Amino acid sequence: APDHKGAVLAEARGVGKRYGEGARESLVLDGLDAEFRAGRLTALTGPSGSGKTTLLHILGGLREPSAGDVTILGRALAELDREERAALRRDEIAFIPQDPGLTPFLSARENVEVALALRELGADEARERALEALSAVGLAERAEQRVGRLSAGERQRVAVARALAAEAKLLLADEPTARLDEANALAVGALFGRYAREHGAAVVCATHDPLVVAEADGVLAL
Ligand code: ADP
Ligand code: MG
Repeated sequence: APDHKGAVLAEARGVGKRYGEGARESLVLDGLDAEFRAGRLTALTGPSGSGKTTLLHILGGLREPSAGDVTILGRALAELDREERAALRRDEIAFIPQDPGLTPFLSARENVEVALALRELGADEARERALEALSAVGLAERAEQRVGRLSAGERQRVAVARALAAEAKLLLADEPTARLDEANALAVGALFGRYAREHGAAVVCATHDPLVVAEADGVLAL
């Protein structure tokens, strides 16, 4: 594989996040420093409530930290306005949320294509990439099935395919193997490692799954 290792694609410096006020205030992240490099899969671990989802949302420009700085591909998020941040998310970031958030009446292929249409890909290329990504997650035969008829694990894999198809430099995944059996969890972990290496991408995956941790180049424990 080409050697893309090295460049820091996402960086957190002194990142803190507090929720609530007064007696209800809680500090979830405190002075967190982290770097996510090209070609590397990082497993983000920690008990429930330790801030994994919060950190992924901050790295993805979906939530603002209460303290510290986040830099994505050399751009400080704090310096971007809403539109610039949306453009950065569209162009450079793919996100696999904990709840897949698919459109139930569209097929698996169409769900992936919609995400690519938002990124202004032509219909033919979108179709090709969608089928390729669905096949990578073992759903080639289910591509034309309506998502509402797929199992929870299959829907989770559609969300993985949708993110991979975007070919983003920063791939953020929130417990993507939680609904998968062992074989599929292993396949997704391996897929993320390969994706990072082949695309020179930084992949950050919140997970409890030892199968994914075993595939990772590094672990960030919260
Ligand atoms: P994890 O993904 O590791 O389980 P989260 O980032 O979801 O952790 O949550 C960390 C902590 O922050 C939890 O205690 C959670 O209740 C709290 N939290 C998360 N989001 C919010 C929010 N929008 N408002 C208030 N508290 C929140
Ligand atoms: Mg979470």
